Amino acid sequence: MSGASLIALAATVAVTYAVLLATYFVACFAVLRLNLRASHKRIQGRRETAERIRRDRIQSIKSLASIAAMFGVGHWMYASMGWGIPALPPSAPVYVLSFIASMLLFDTWFYWMHRLIHSQWLYRMVHLWHHVTVSPEVWSNNSDRIVDTVFVQSYWLVAHFLIPVAPAVLIAHKLYDQVTGVVGHSGHEHAGWIAWPPSPFVSVTHHDQHHRYGRCNYATHFTWWDRLMGTLHATHDGEAKRNIARARDASRRSAPAES
Ligand SMILES: [Zn+2]
Ligand SMILES: [Zn+2]
Repeated sequence: MSGASLIALAATVAVTYAVLLATYFVACFAVLRLNLRASHKRIQGRRETAERIRRDRIQSIKSLASIAAMFGVGHWMYASMGWGIPALPPSAPVYVLSFIASMLLFDTWFYWMHRLIHSQWLYRMVHLWHHVTVSPEVWSNNSDRIVDTVFVQSYWLVAHFLIPVAPAVLIAHKLYDQVTGVVGHSGHEHAGWIAWPPSPFVSVTHHDQHHRYGRCNYATHFTWWDRLMGTLHATHDGEAKRNIARARDASRRSAPAES
């Protein structure tokens, strides 16, 4: 490997880390602002201590570095070394379809890896750290041990070997995942009608229940795998409907009356 390609690799990882870190902080502060104006959307009465939230923020900053390393190496292998499945000729339909394909594939990857790290052999060693937080806050999104990150986020390292996807589409998908992950840990039901069960899209309640109950609701983008494998929590649909309806009704009441 030449010195130039090593520099290109280091630069790719560094830029990826800067972008992910900026997205994490901007998303966290933006959702915290939304939360301040939406106390009626709060899902749990319980709150984590300031110390626990600080723990999650510090660990997220570390964990994002390992995600950047995997994403950056994956991008570098494709863009600089020419490895992986070449993307289809660019067009709007190709971008849209490959974005959806990447979402479906990552959701599948995440669901099965997440179930694996909930197994009795791996849970304490790999995943318990993330579950110490029972009432998630925005800062909890990436609060995982590095080995946990390797399990669930290694999709970004190998994605170009799995589907013909343009780097720009994969970057857009990762940013979508970063923002929806922060919203999903916000402790407030922000999803709205799009997540009304049996919608395939997850609500905030979906992952909030995962932190409360543990062995259920493993997926990250869609509810399909949980429904198919019987791992959706028994109260999920009812609670998601109640939380979405309560958020909607309170928003309507607080909206200024039309004259
Ligand atoms: Zn878990
Ligand atoms: Zn979580």
